[in-house]
Amino acid sequence: MKISVIGTSYVGLVTGISLAIKGNQVVCVGRNLSRIRSINRGIAPFYEPGLHALLKKALAKKSFTATDKLEDAILDTEVTLIAVGTPTVRNRIDLSSINGVIKKIGAILKYKKKYHVVAIKSTVLPTTTEKIIKPLLESTSGKKIGKEIGLCTNPEFLREGNAVEDSLKPDRIVIGTGDTKSFQILKEMYSRFSCPVIRTSSTAAEMIKYTSNALLATLISFSNEIARVCESIGGLDSENVWNGVHLDHRLNPDKGNLPEIVRYIRSGCGYGGSCFPKDTQALSSLIRDLGIGSNIIQNVVHTNNTQPHRLIMLLKHAVGKLKGKKIAVFGLAFKPNTDDLRESPALKLIHLLIDEGADIVCHDPVVSAAQLEKYAFYSRIMFEHTISDALKNADAAVFATAWDMYKKLKPDFFKKYMEKPVIVDGRRMFDKNTFLGKGIIYQGIGYRI
Ligand code: NAD
Repeated sequence: MKISVIGTSYVGLVTGISLAIKGNQVVCVGRNLSRIRSINRGIAPFYEPGLHALLKKALAKKSFTATDKLEDAILDTEVTLIAVGTPTVRNRIDLSSINGVIKKIGAILKYKKKYHVVAIKSTVLPTTTEKIIKPLLESTSGKKIGKEIGLCTNPEFLREGNAVEDSLKPDRIVIGTGDTKSFQILKEMYSRFSCPVIRTSSTAAEMIKYTSNALLATLISFSNEIARVCESIGGLDSENVWNGVHLDHRLNPDKGNLPEIVRYIRSGCGYGGSCFPKDTQALSSLIRDLGIGSNIIQNVVHTNNTQPHRLIMLLKHAVGKLKGKKIAVFGLAFKPNTDDLRESPALKLIHLLIDEGADIVCHDPVVSAAQLEKYAFYSRIMFEHTISDALKNADAAVFATAWDMYKKLKPDFFKKYMEKPVIVDGRRMFDKNTFLGKGIIYQGIGYRI
């Protein structure tokens, strides 16, 4: 099948390449010419495990290309997937990119003779497709949805850091549409993916996406609230609490091989990235607008926004006032295996450390110093390329992202480079018992000595 994908970021590019690998002919449409050129040369514009090799493979098969020519892409394909950004601005979802693209596509479809399906992969609030996108596409194209053109809501569930695998082997495909013809076309497009395909209304598809993200975010904030209780009571370690809770057969049906969902029921310094923060905020605003009077999601957001403050509390507990202290921050991206800095708890931590007057040195295995240049704090931090250089003369090391290379660090390594080693573990990735009694002060989210 011939497919165009609008957007060349995490969802657009990874989905486009995966569909190409699965036997379709795909063109990805972007706006930035140098990005498009580098994609066509086989260079992925962001870090994502396996993406580089998959892009090369799709280009070699000649089943994938990138372009800035929207009109040609629409006219030459049967299906268009929209994967542009839907950020939250001042607590509200910003639909300007998606509305802009729909208007352009509508104007092109006006003169296209063949049936064409538009599918919304971007995350949009329930009823957006029905109440905003559908009328906009019908008015700009002059065509009736369900008769001359099709419209589906096809939310994306891939996880950054695992995007290639998730895209090639999705857990579900949700196709929300009232129109059977466009459902059949999308089902055919995904025919080589072996996972359940469910058909819903467009609003239900949108709700499934928000509910999925809100559930995971809620588990994270719930776990962090329990961590705060443990820290405040003292003499308690939330890790021990979770180990006990996770033994519940309902969370641990395989007796030892914990399901992925349990990873979200552990304490840490909070969620970040391009989805959970904006989607929980947008859902919280929707709940308020609907007058439901429920505050769960609002509190999930609040707990998450304030969670990096706990790292400051633990740091102060260990080293006293932070003014003039050298603090090494390890892990800048919002999670391992990505270089995405959006809404990363590490960046919130850096802002808080600046407010405290600390001297900050940072390290991340894949984020580059150049990526940090756009942030106002750039001139206030040092960036080191090796862990050892970042540790030298540091008064404390704070771990904000659980990269595998950090997990392997042993007490002797810290003792070699730090005069009085202090570790604040924002992801509970170290076994505290290997550090205790080794001349190291170890504090972690959910555990305060
Ligand atoms: P992003 O926010 O990183 O970037 C959006 C891209 O859209 C940008 O590259 C921008 O240039 C492009 N764009 C905007 N208008 C355009 C136009 N007229 N023509 C061509 N390109 C245009 O994107 P993302 O992280 O891939 O997210 C896209 C959507 O998918 C969002 O709605 C997001 O919530 C959702 N989503 C993201 C993830 C994720 O892990 N990133 C997962 C699931 C769903």
